[in-house]
Amino acid sequence: MPSAVTDDAAALLRWYHEVGVTDAVAETPTDLTFAAKPRPTADPAPDRPARGAPTATLGSAAASADARSLAATATTLSELETALRLFEGCALKRTATNLVFADGNPEAAVMVLGEAPGEEEDRQGRPFVGRAGQLLDRMLAAIGLDRSTVYISNIVTWRPPGNRKPNSGEIAVCLPFAERHIALKAPRILVLAGATAAQAILGTTEGITRLRGRWFEHSVPDLAAPIPSVCMLHPAYLLRAPAAKREAWRDLLALRERLDAILGDAP
Ligand code: URA
Repeated sequence: MPSAVTDDAAALLRWYHEVGVTDAVAETPTDLTFAAKPRPTADPAPDRPARGAPTATLGSAAASADARSLAATATTLSELETALRLFEGCALKRTATNLVFADGNPEAAVMVLGEAPGEEEDRQGRPFVGRAGQLLDRMLAAIGLDRSTVYISNIVTWRPPGNRKPNSGEIAVCLPFAERHIALKAPRILVLAGATAAQAILGTTEGITRLRGRWFEHSVPDLAAPIPSVCMLHPAYLLRAPAAKREAWRDLLALRERLDAILGDAP
């Protein structure tokens, strides 16, 4: 029978859900802001720096430097995924269920980079599989592409709790991995979906409505030639603002045209 206590508890749970606290991590709350979990020390790969306890505070400038040196040791996509699994400098890892590394074809000409995994992506460990991902699939299909002809990842590879936008510290510690991801994947075309990906990769604060549809020659360390890169509206935004699909369609057609020019008849 409901009582004041159960009503209060139900109201509290509803409030937690509304503000994005959707996951219980432990029985009692722990303040993880300043405590860095030591990386595993067993069985260090011989070609990597020894992994002792990290010196970096979660999300700090030192954690970004740690991320940069760890990402730089990766010479393949699978080594980069391993490096991310070893990295302890991003607090989001503590609350995420899975690392969401990538999906699609690593040999594809097109790489799509989004913001961060959501709830469904976190559950499955694959990017863009929730509602926004299904819309992305339909958008790609409209120009003859699918996950066998596209490679997909995110700037941030762990889900921010409650699907909130990743903050600037979280983006900064994940960025070296995203940049290395692009360098190792070496796509012929890079699609930056939404403001977070566009701003982080292009190093700009310009809004996505000004960036979308524009092409950039994005220089990547270790790659001989810059990558033609285009900014697009994020499919999650298009779900909220369907009228903007007109612009998205224009950008997709421009992507298809550019791809055809690069590849000839191949998909
Ligand atoms: N939004 C993103 O930016 N990435 C995903 O993987 C899912 C939703």
